[in-house]
Amino acid sequence: ADTLLEVRDLSLDFGSPKGRIHALRDISLTVPRGRIVGVVGESGSGKSTLAYAIIRLLAENALVTQGEIFLDGRNLLELSPRQMRDIRGQRMSMIFQDPMTSLNRVLSVGDHMIDIQYRDSAPKAEKRRRAIEALGRVGIPDPEDRIQNYPHQFSGGMRQRICIAMAMLVEPALLLADEPTTALDATMEVQIIDLLKRLQQELGCSILFVSHHLGTVAELCDDVIVMYAGEVVESGSVRDIFHKPGHPYTQALLQCDPGRIREKTRRLPTIPGNVPNLLNRVPQGCIFKTRCPYVFERCHEEHPPSYDVDSGRVDSGATHTARCHLRDPAEASRDKEEGHLV
Ligand code: ATP
Ligand code: SF4
Ligand code: MG
Repeated sequence: ADTLLEVRDLSLDFGSPKGRIHALRDISLTVPRGRIVGVVGESGSGKSTLAYAIIRLLAENALVTQGEIFLDGRNLLELSPRQMRDIRGQRMSMIFQDPMTSLNRVLSVGDHMIDIQYRDSAPKAEKRRRAIEALGRVGIPDPEDRIQNYPHQFSGGMRQRICIAMAMLVEPALLLADEPTTALDATMEVQIIDLLKRLQQELGCSILFVSHHLGTVAELCDDVIVMYAGEVVESGSVRDIFHKPGHPYTQALLQCDPGRIREKTRRLPTIPGNVPNLLNRVPQGCIFKTRCPYVFERCHEEHPPSYDVDSGRVDSGATHTARCHLRDPAEASRDKEEGHLV
């Protein structure tokens, strides 16, 4: 499919009083046009950092040390802050776990929604009409009246709908969503997921959807990116990831209880072992070696490349990849010996 977003070999550190935190390492991924790509991983794996890096809303202490981020073929990391603001207003928008991140307490929803159309020279009445239409589309009842209300006059679920309406007013090519349903109850979550699905179909945009919930990702997404300790350890279609996972970390996530993966409230299961410390030194070898049940000598020395899970090759362009030496055809005998993979 046609690529909208491509991240290539992105590495990012945060400065801290104790030293550098290596939050992202050699991240490569693509988001095809019109597809919904899920990003899953434990807390601290770098999911939000990745989303903020893409839309360039990073904290001051963040430093991109390597890599490129292409949107429509333009490297976003080379744009001026002003050009980047235009991109955010026209090509990309973001929704957050806490809707109040993007709402303005002192403006009515209507005034705020008119404000964010400042690039447009249309008369105010037209902007207001569009805002009402957008609110109606995301299921806010009586939008003509409710548009005068302030954010605190809405429930959490309604606020998240308003944020989605605001994000969609931009008619973005890419919507970034950082755990937009995590703060909501299960019923509300289902509604928001359905809404995102519907809007994606109506607008044809792509969505990068960050989530803790494997079930939600299986339900909503076309493709999945699995992150662990700042790396993409596996990526592929929902089918690939859920039916023939190629990385021991993904397998561990799914092993717990595959039948219940679709359950909406399911969180990532806990896997024994320690997550590597990302402060001051890039770990040697495989990032998952401290928790992997299949660890062998090579894992300590060599950082695994992204293998094509089907062919075992390392060239780019594969749709299902895993950063695990067991995917190297040279390790095939080991794979059989231990008899644990797909
Ligand atoms: P969660 O599921 O809890 O939201 P996450 O996968 O989104 O986690 P990030 O918030 O991206 O993880 O954090 C990745 C790593 O970067 C963590 O170790 C975190 O402590 C660190 N980090 C994030 N923001 C900063 C910052 N501004 N300064 C220093 N370290 C940071
Ligand atoms: Fe486990 Fe080694 Fe594969 Fe890493 S490379 S996931 S340690 S088997
Ligand atoms: Mg996060």
